[in-house]
Amino acid sequence: MNLAILGATGSIGASTLDVVAAHRGRYRVFALSAHGSADALLALCRIHKPRFAVLSGLSEDRAIRARFDESGTELLFGHGALEEVVTHPDCHAVMAAIVGGAGLRSTLAAAEAGKRVLLANKEALVMAGPLVMAAARDSGAQLLPVDSEHNAVFQCFSNGSSVKKIILTASGGPFRVTPLEKLAAVTPEQACAHPNWVMGRKISVDSATMMNKGLEVIEARYLFELPPERIEVLIHPQSIVHSLVEYVDGSVIAQLSNPDMRVPIAYALAYPERIASGAQPLDLAALKSLSFERPDHERFPCLRLARAAMRAGGSAPAVLNAANEIAVEAFLAGRIPFTAIAAVIEDTLSGVGATAAGSLDEVLEVDALARRNAGERIALRQAA
Ligand code: NAD
Ligand code: MG
Repeated sequence: MNLAILGATGSIGASTLDVVAAHRGRYRVFALSAHGSADALLALCRIHKPRFAVLSGLSEDRAIRARFDESGTELLFGHGALEEVVTHPDCHAVMAAIVGGAGLRSTLAAAEAGKRVLLANKEALVMAGPLVMAAARDSGAQLLPVDSEHNAVFQCFSNGSSVKKIILTASGGPFRVTPLEKLAAVTPEQACAHPNWVMGRKISVDSATMMNKGLEVIEARYLFELPPERIEVLIHPQSIVHSLVEYVDGSVIAQLSNPDMRVPIAYALAYPERIASGAQPLDLAALKSLSFERPDHERFPCLRLARAAMRAGGSAPAVLNAANEIAVEAFLAGRIPFTAIAAVIEDTLSGVGATAAGSLDEVLEVDALARRNAGERIALRQAA
């Protein structure tokens, strides 16, 4: 199977390459992409020998091209090249692992082209769930969730009409028990120090605010076609039970593993078969206990905001996502305190308002508008 890995220099990209490298006969790396880090991408090309490499954030640069030429990989520049490689007839599967709304176009293009889409880029579904799902249905593309919770639900889900609800677990992140009055002063480093997972910085902050779980509820709604009230969130600090499906007869089926993204990645790669992922086997006796608790909405207002955007529908989830990306970026740059992330999102949601957003152009328009609006609110806060 020829695989394109978009966002190859990121955390999911690295885990994917690790699984693929252990199954060389089965998977061939067809294309790799990075946004701007040419050196990191070239290092990966020397090891994995893809046919194409894409530097999506750069325009034609002869000096960089010359360095790729001797590696035997054809280098493409610019965002449009992502769509070029995912729709290439020799590309069979696409790992969509670009972070944020920047992944929407390429994810959608892969779905439209009928490829097997390994979906890590949850923001694409949050922004344009109906569009991406319809594209996959129309083209026959297989959309396989890589997000650990959705991958777990996918593994446990059968006989849809007998499913009562799904339960997404959340670790609660680094601030699960931090005194509330201390949250305003937490630093980006503290927010990115996740207790159980090593991830990119954006999703790490999302986990700390629990916006990550909010985005995942919206993602689950589209992937599993369930109404919001049948998607529950439970805090499970050990990150061993990755999610659960409850059936009408009272049975609850869960998927367990050590917290290692190579498990859902291997499942999505090989589905419906299974292959070794490289993860440590689970030692249940050594775990002692698994605990669960309901999320505290005062501590995690982003969960409530995500549910409100989902209920509002139309363009509201896209506004939520855009405002979150801008607010997280500002927090990471030291421009706003951690607690202002939710406030900026809430203000942007009420400022921009929800409209219908049926086409890709409409979604992108709303996305740009919400980013500007959130940016202005951050500038006003800084000036105050
Ligand atoms: P990361 O920051 O580690 O990597 C992001 C990748 O995207 C990099 O290769 C980078 O070059 C590329 N990129 C960044 N901005 C881009 C842009 N504007 N255009 C094109 N490419 C760009 O992120 P990550 O943690 O690997 O997360 C990737 C995606 O997977 C996110 O959507 C995240 O929510 C999802 N996800 C990640 C994890 C995890 O454990 N890391 C788990 C579940 C879901
Ligand atoms: Mg997840």
